[in-house]
Amino acid sequence: MGMTGLQIYKLLPRTNCKKCGYATCLAFGMALSSGKTTDDKCEYMSDSLRNTLKEASLTPVRECVFGNEKYQYKIGGEKVIFRHEETFYNLPCIAPCLSDDLPEDEFKRRAEIVNNYKVIRAGVELKTGALAIEHKNGDLLKYVSFVDIEKPIIIISDDLKAIYELLEKQPERRPLIICKNASDEDIKTWSLKYNAGVTIFGESIEQLHEKIEKMGELKNVVFCSDVDFKEQVLQSSISRFSAIHFRQKTHPFITLLNSVGNIEEEIMLAGFAVQRFFGCIITSFESFEKILPLLTLANGHYSDPRRPVQVEPGLYPINNPDENSPVFVTTNFSLTHFLVSSEIEASRKPAWLLIVDTDGTSLLTAWASDKFNAEAIHEAIKKSEIESKVSHRSIVICSYVYSMKEEIEDKTGWKVILGTGEASGISTWLKKLNYSSL
Ligand code: SF4
Repeated sequence: MGMTGLQIYKLLPRTNCKKCGYATCLAFGMALSSGKTTDDKCEYMSDSLRNTLKEASLTPVRECVFGNEKYQYKIGGEKVIFRHEETFYNLPCIAPCLSDDLPEDEFKRRAEIVNNYKVIRAGVELKTGALAIEHKNGDLLKYVSFVDIEKPIIIISDDLKAIYELLEKQPERRPLIICKNASDEDIKTWSLKYNAGVTIFGESIEQLHEKIEKMGELKNVVFCSDVDFKEQVLQSSISRFSAIHFRQKTHPFITLLNSVGNIEEEIMLAGFAVQRFFGCIITSFESFEKILPLLTLANGHYSDPRRPVQVEPGLYPINNPDENSPVFVTTNFSLTHFLVSSEIEASRKPAWLLIVDTDGTSLLTAWASDKFNAEAIHEAIKKSEIESKVSHRSIVICSYVYSMKEEIEDKTGWKVILGTGEASGISTWLKKLNYSSL
């Protein structure tokens, strides 16, 4: 939370000299607090105010960034306790773990699976955040080179020599390092010289804070509570509450669930971790097949409640449609798209799905607010070039908006066929559709 305009004003020289471009110091303070100007415009501002402003602009939950410049991953930086208070910004990093004692081919095969895993759900791409590599007795440097450069990596190792070798020879990787026996000096070097992510271990919040304060200002830090999972959840929660309510500086927490042993339990604990403010969650590769619900949970939890989740407007072919296939028309609200497209897919009948831009609102909301109207549908038809893809001129709309039928037909010249009211009936409806009626 930044300073208010009035708080800034009280610390300004209050001479109203106008050199900042504002008529008064109060006006400048107000503009500064709302981000409309910058502190360097007032040459008379004291250093202490400048430092206070800098401190106030930082979120109490500091960010940890790792991965190379182009494909970095950011965790922490959150400003609220509950998502509805604003939004959560940085999705927790869910990182399956592989160890370097696997045969090379097997490691490569698994790394490729993690790297290529991608599921589109309701217009959102779900994927893992990083690949964790547990260094056992393999050649760490060699195994890291098997991982695509765009995948951020997390190194779990107590081998200082191997970590330094990796940082020296592949500095662009900028891994997040989890090393329990690193000295304060090692951690400082990795953070400040190599710009890597670093992990501070401790048994309590007090111990974690004591350790980091002793080391001075570090970059890209995560906390790891060296206690059982229940206590970790408690510490992560207390830490977030005290950061937001009392502005106590803190760092995102990481939890290592890769050795839980029971896959169902591991995924369940990971789900808790997502909801209890952890910034990074290490899972086992064995749990990978069950990772989709976890990614769905995390993405849902971190979606912005201020913006409807939406898909790209345009034309979507489903089940290989051709010129005789029907054309369904609906809005770009993700859930609407997901339900309608799933039903068409389930019918196994080919069809085109034309998505109209309604700012991500659902069908009835868009209709009621005049975003889903004849004009918008006409525009979507023209933009999508559907006229060159089908030989008929018929579109299918939801029967709940039957009153639009004539208006659409007049505006577009296309015949309107009323489909089902609920998306759940589309599959059966489509199976019964007489294509020659289009
Ligand atoms: S330059 Fe500084 S002192 Fe002068 S009016 Fe602006 S804020 Fe006030």
